Amino acid sequence: MGDDNAIRIEQLRKTYAAHKNEPPKEALSGVDLDIPTGSVFGLLGPNGAGKSTLINILAGLVIKTAGRVSIWGFDQDVNPRQSRAAIGVMPQELNLDPFFTPRGALEVQAGLYGVPRAQRRTDEILRLVGLEDKANSYSRTLSGGMRRRLLLGKALVHHPHILVLDEPTAGVDIELRQMLWTNVRRLNEDGMTIILTTHYLEEAEEMCDEIAIINHGAVVARDSTARLLGRIDHKTMVIQPASPPTTLPEAEGVQVEQRADGALALHYHARQTPAEAVLDAVHAAGISISDVRTEQADLQDVFLELTRVNAAD
Ligand code: ADP
Ligand code: MG
Repeated sequence: MGDDNAIRIEQLRKTYAAHKNEPPKEALSGVDLDIPTGSVFGLLGPNGAGKSTLINILAGLVIKTAGRVSIWGFDQDVNPRQSRAAIGVMPQELNLDPFFTPRGALEVQAGLYGVPRAQRRTDEILRLVGLEDKANSYSRTLSGGMRRRLLLGKALVHHPHILVLDEPTAGVDIELRQMLWTNVRRLNEDGMTIILTTHYLEEAEEMCDEIAIINHGAVVARDSTARLLGRIDHKTMVIQPASPPTTLPEAEGVQVEQRADGALALHYHARQTPAEAVLDAVHAAGISISDVRTEQADLQDVFLELTRVNAAD
């Protein structure tokens, strides 16, 4: 099954019940989201935005308060077993039984999903995530990076159509990050739909075809990665002057920030001020440029930008 959309989410709400002194918490406040089959889809948002809540509802680990979720064409409430079978989730938390070996953990997981022995690919998965050498070591002896790889392996045991990775690279070293991205790209090339959450704009930019930005439990933007980043109007050009400037550049709509290392950061809005006008102002101030670069907007800028644009609509 599975049509153009691997996942369809309509008016999804989640309110966590009151707990001790904590009041009830609305984590998702009516999310509508379609995730295209075959894509690498990014759910981008700051800590506390509701990303893990959304993922855990998809995984069947958190019960939604209201709304409809369909996975690979199966409504979660009507066909819970089929919808669960279509998706594999690598959770954010490193929750592993310390007394299982990687091989054992993969076998148990396959059993839970009802994968017959003849169809299990335990050795293949161990190889894929680079744990052949540790196949028979207790999980408690594995490093953090190895545990994360084992969690990826567990998400794959039942050959899911959709793989979900919740903050896969938070706190991991560069080597593991590379390994994860290589695996994710390969799985996607083989036809798997990938959903990943991150609070790093760069990561979403590098990996994802499409992005939804989620903030305070609501989707505030959803577009192709290129179009979404193109909508970010706030730009920063960083100039390293050849010698200390005697006057600062001045132009309408340009804010100049002098940095400790002698660089000048020029903040401007691309729709209002073309990059040439910014450079002209630098030259007009008699500054010769030894180096120039642009700085990526951070996530906070993106939210401000997108909410500002929406408010103006
Ligand atoms: P993210 O993954 O984007 O960081 P989460 O989905 O983990 O966000 O959390 C969204 C909001 O819901 C946060 O305010 C968080 O504190 C709250 N929350 C998450 N899990 C629970 C829970 N089990 N009980 C109560 N509140 C929770
Ligand atoms: Mg989270």
